[in-house]
Amino acid sequence: MNCISKENLKRWREKNKKPERKCVVCGNNFEIEIDKKYVVKIQEGLINKTYYDAVDCPRCGCQNIIWKREEIVDKFAEKTKK
Ligand SMILES: [Zn+2]
Repeated sequence: MNCISKENLKRWREKNKKPERKCVVCGNNFEIEIDKKYVVKIQEGLINKTYYDAVDCPRCGCQNIIWKREEIVDKFAEKTKK
């Protein structure tokens, strides 16, 4: 494919780039794959529990917490989540 200029290829890559994460343990930059994400529960005391999206670093395998996930309580949101 020599019809794509270097500049266009660079632009295409920027546009299609997946969100990246820097591993908190080894400093490796890796792409966040949606199917590799999972939810973790952190128990704080007896009642309080917080959910977080997490992903494992492909280099060292350590867990990286991405962002807080709130519990869905609204039925409309439950229906539209797909
Ligand atoms: Zn790592």
